[in-house]
Amino acid sequence: MRAIEVNGLRHAYGDVVAVDGIDFHVAEGEVFALLGTNGAGKTTTLEIIEGFLRPGAGAVRVLGHDPYTERNAIAPSIGVLPQESGLIDELTVAETVSLWQRLSSRTDSPAGLVDRLALAHRVDVPVDRLSGGERRRLDVALAVWGGPRLLVLDEPTTGLDPESRQRVWALVEDLAATGTTVLLTTHYLEEAEALADRVAIMHAGRIRVDGTMSEVLASQPARITATLPSAVPRLPAFSGTAAVADGELTVETETLQQDLLALLLWADRNAVRLDDLHATQASLQEVFLALEAS
Ligand code: ATP
Repeated sequence: MRAIEVNGLRHAYGDVVAVDGIDFHVAEGEVFALLGTNGAGKTTTLEIIEGFLRPGAGAVRVLGHDPYTERNAIAPSIGVLPQESGLIDELTVAETVSLWQRLSSRTDSPAGLVDRLALAHRVDVPVDRLSGGERRRLDVALAVWGGPRLLVLDEPTTGLDPESRQRVWALVEDLAATGTTVLLTTHYLEEAEALADRVAIMHAGRIRVDGTMSEVLASQPARITATLPSAVPRLPAFSGTAAVADGELTVETETLQQDLLALLLWADRNAVRLDDLHATQASLQEVFLALEAS
């Protein structure tokens, strides 16, 4: 079953078209990362899925319901982490969690959650005296409270130090392992690589690339590089494009295995020693840069 279905979604703020006709779906139990450049339309899409914003056009189903008109039906099953925190400054961490405990229809262990997010030593501190990272961890605690069926995270680890980021990742991974569906946005590409089963990359209101991580990486050519000796015989025919500059061979190719084999056979036949040989698929960053340049 699909936890989220988005078809032909469009949304404008006045003259600004934030989301310009997007389609995607998230299967139940999947971790899906919606990535994109600044202003691409990710937060707008998330707010529509969360039921806070009425879509301009298109059809959106979340856990089988219209998230805007049937928000009450899905709200108990969704954990939401907004980009901007809505915490009450005067309440302490313990009071915030206790208030949440009373408001939420899900149950959890306040002490256990606070401990997992390294906030146990801060329970008596008011929210306005927490560091930025501590506030964000408290936001995360409230979003994951009670293991929701669907978790929507807008930039969950922005401003967190590496250790806190790892804690949040572990929490998301544990929830995913128990069947929670996760939709997240992030500007940290390594976060998407670590957590997501599938990704979509938005640019200027549209989804430009989507698929599994390896499908998305395969949208840009892979690269072979090697240092050649000073005098070499004629290079083999590659299916990609090859260039030699300052003794460094670079082959950009859609068929990495085939061109790597061609290079290795050629080197072997001609007794050419290849130093510093690397064969890599494109990085997520290269996919991004190519999108921005196109
Ligand atoms: P970022 O990565 O910078 O957070 P985003 O992908 O989440 O960006 P959105 O916040 O959805 O993008 O914004 C998409 C576009 O809509 C941007 O051009 C933004 O300026 C505009 N926008 C967002 N919210 C509003 C609003 N309330 N009123 C007017 N324009 C808005």
